[in-house]
Amino acid sequence: MTTNATPQPIHVIGGGLAGSEAAWQVAQAGVPVILHEMRRPGVTTDAHHTDGLAELVCSNSFRSDDWEYNAVGLIHQEMRELGSLIMAAAGENQVPAGGALAVDRDGFSRAVTDRLQAHPLVTVVREEIAGLPPEDWDSVIVATGPLTSPALAEAILGLTGEESLSFFDAIAPIVHADSIDFDIAWRQSRYDKAGPGGDAAAYVNCPMDRDQYEAFIDALLAGPKAEFKDWEHVPYFDGCLPIEVMAERGRETLRHGPMKPVGLTNPRDPMVKAHAIVQLRQDNALGTLFNMVGFQTKLKHGAQAEVFRMIPGLQKAQFARLGGLHRNTYLNSPRLLDRQLRLKPMPRLRFAGQVTGVEGYVESAATGLLAGRLAAAERLGQPIEAPPAETAIGALVQHITGGHLEGAKFQPMNINYGLLPPLEAPRVDDEGRRIPPKDRGRAKKRLMSVRGLEALKAWRDG
Ligand SMILES: Cc1cc2nc3c(=O)[nH]c(=O)nc-3n(C[C@H](O)[C@H](O)[C@H](O)COP(=O)(O)OP(=O)(O)OC[C@H]3O[C@@H](n4cnc5c(N)ncnc54)[C@H](O)[C@@H]3O)c2cc1C
Repeated sequence: MTTNATPQPIHVIGGGLAGSEAAWQVAQAGVPVILHEMRRPGVTTDAHHTDGLAELVCSNSFRSDDWEYNAVGLIHQEMRELGSLIMAAAGENQVPAGGALAVDRDGFSRAVTDRLQAHPLVTVVREEIAGLPPEDWDSVIVATGPLTSPALAEAILGLTGEESLSFFDAIAPIVHADSIDFDIAWRQSRYDKAGPGGDAAAYVNCPMDRDQYEAFIDALLAGPKAEFKDWEHVPYFDGCLPIEVMAERGRETLRHGPMKPVGLTNPRDPMVKAHAIVQLRQDNALGTLFNMVGFQTKLKHGAQAEVFRMIPGLQKAQFARLGGLHRNTYLNSPRLLDRQLRLKPMPRLRFAGQVTGVEGYVESAATGLLAGRLAAAERLGQPIEAPPAETAIGALVQHITGGHLEGAKFQPMNINYGLLPPLEAPRVDDEGRRIPPKDRGRAKKRLMSVRGLEALKAWRDG
């Protein structure tokens, strides 16, 4: 006998970018949702100032809105195709910002709050969930963000173990492999030692002579640094110091640390020892991204691109993400989450947003969107798979749940084309006209975007 009983509710913890979108998607699928948000008049976090849902804590920008040539724009478009509340509210509250999608932050947050509160299947409860959710909540989306309340973080830590929940990130810049100049750089592991994968050429090496090194140290020391907020209390761990702090300790420190030249021979100039060497290590299983080993930094983003392009071999580097150090609560998702975003040791808990190790408003909302859809489909007895890796949303989730390479510590990631399966750069356009070499990289991005949107629509309609 079939019944038309209303499904049991899904609980969403955290009404930020991810939780608001997740709650919307659940409700739109016809499943009741209870959204628990701890902020209320008189209670905020260190970064939030209001009790509005989906408050933007800093910039008012959702970055590029160009879906054809920018991976962030592509994820915007995919979210629109999937009926995103965050993208709808952003569209209604857009302010002029050239090619970027920027919003009036109060109008945006108000629109999200009003739409959720008006939805007949959404109940918003203003309370902190200060421990593991009660056992009878059989489907929960945890979207508590980079400043997850200490009581809940403590409970998650009890479940996952200390190695699996970080309270700070220390991010080294990541470079697109195809922007490295291999006429200068070469592949070799220190002392030709094979790593766990058996590869004795796992690293990319960028050599510097004395003058280049000295100029680089000068630029590092002079570059503007981002300030920590008073409440951040980011500790400098040994072995994880920002490179500019190492350089401040002595001009030779980096040459004896992450830039040491020993055990490496430049095949083009084997008799000349480099004065210093910057190493990059493969960062994703696709082999499209490389991180700069030991280069975690608080240099401001604009300065990073400028200073790091002084490194021979990286003079035309395209950065998939720049470095940073922040207070940031996030899971070791590649180990802990399945492709359904469920916590392996307790699958009734799904995670979404920045706490999964994605970075940024858009990426957080996108994982919230997916978590909401996955949870609702499961509740309705028609489980679905995550979208394929050709889509921006699928690529991001694939990265955090497995695409990141084992070995290096998992660090937060934002969406970029390097996470999508690679494509050959086209040589001719749709009309058969030759594309000049300088425009082929751009043409490749468009092909990847078109492929992504088609794959997304097929997934949605499939
Ligand atoms: C200081 C700072 C500046 C940032 N600047 C930017 C920026 O300029 N651009 C950008 O793209 N990203 C920025 N980020 C990253 C930003 O936090 C994320 O992009 C985005 O807000 C993450 O969305 P989220 O939904 O995961 O978390 P949030 O938007 O933070 O939402 C999490 C929600 O969970 C609630 N919560 C936490 N614990 C509990 C609990 N136990 N019970 C109930 N509710 C709980 C919080 O009150 C909050 O409302 C910044 C982060 C910080 C900390």
